[in-house]
Amino acid sequence: MSTPDIKDLPFDSPVVPEMVDGAKRIQFCCRKGIACWNACCSNIDISLTPYDILRLKRRLGLASAQFLQQYAVPYEMEKDGIAGVKLKPAAGGTACQFMTPDGCSVYADRPTACRYYPVALLSLRKQDEYVDRNAYALVKENHCLGHAEPRSLRIDDYRREQGVVEYDEQGRGWRQLVLKKKSSGPTVGKPSVKSRQLFFMTCYDLDTFRAFVDSGPFKELYDVPQAEHLAMLGDTLEAEQSLLQFGYRFLRQTLFGEETIALHQAAVDKRRQHVREKALKAEREAAEKMAREEDAEDEGFDD
Ligand code: SF4
Ligand code: SF4
Repeated sequence: MSTPDIKDLPFDSPVVPEMVDGAKRIQFCCRKGIACWNACCSNIDISLTPYDILRLKRRLGLASAQFLQQYAVPYEMEKDGIAGVKLKPAAGGTACQFMTPDGCSVYADRPTACRYYPVALLSLRKQDEYVDRNAYALVKENHCLGHAEPRSLRIDDYRREQGVVEYDEQGRGWRQLVLKKKSSGPTVGKPSVKSRQLFFMTCYDLDTFRAFVDSGPFKELYDVPQAEHLAMLGDTLEAEQSLLQFGYRFLRQTLFGEETIALHQAAVDKRRQHVREKALKAEREAAEKMAREEDAEDEGFDD
């Protein structure tokens, strides 16, 4: 089972490279007892969305950092670009750690890609469009016998049946960030290590992001209404969903300058002053260095 992406539709991809919309009917049924039972989960390549991680770490009762350590591997979605996270297979193999003879042990909280299979979500965004548009493609892998089952339904109905709608809503902000970064391309340049770390923490390590949002330096700079701030610091599902959505806004602001979170003016002034002082210091040091070099050259000339 793999997570296809619009940029990866190679010639021999199992993804049928035909984009369709939600009204398209598919013939498919996955059921216990089918001859290929668990074949898809025995060889995984599954990208996780931030909401997938949120749901799984809650299910397993783990902090996000622990979850990432035990069940995930980081990867680069594009060279020097954006960090992504995949499910880590069982040690020494390719099978999913959650696979059991009875099926998926985290079924109610399984990731988006597992819910969608054998449909692939293709998020598209034109350079001049603010919102993304969804299209779908069908994945047909030889080992999967579900395509021969006598059941036909619309992709939209399949999405509802598989509980994908909520997952898509919760993951939309993240997909938009990824698309925005991809479409801004090399003109914006390689993101700094710091901004990549910020992206990783905010999207995937939610418990660390919560601690950051609750920290003194954050509260000194960002003017988040108290009720909104408190609502996202709790440990209920709703609180963590709010925190994640806030995280997407925070990243749009810090990475792309889209200001939707108010700042405390005093802190902004203090930061500007700090930046000015740093620039002046750097200028002064450069001038001093130049003067020293000129002095050294003059001495050489006298000799
Ligand atoms: S999370 Fe569940 S459905 Fe997804 S690959 Fe693992 S066992 Fe299969
Ligand atoms: S029908 Fe397809 S999705 Fe279902 S168990 Fe078989 S390989 Fe997996």
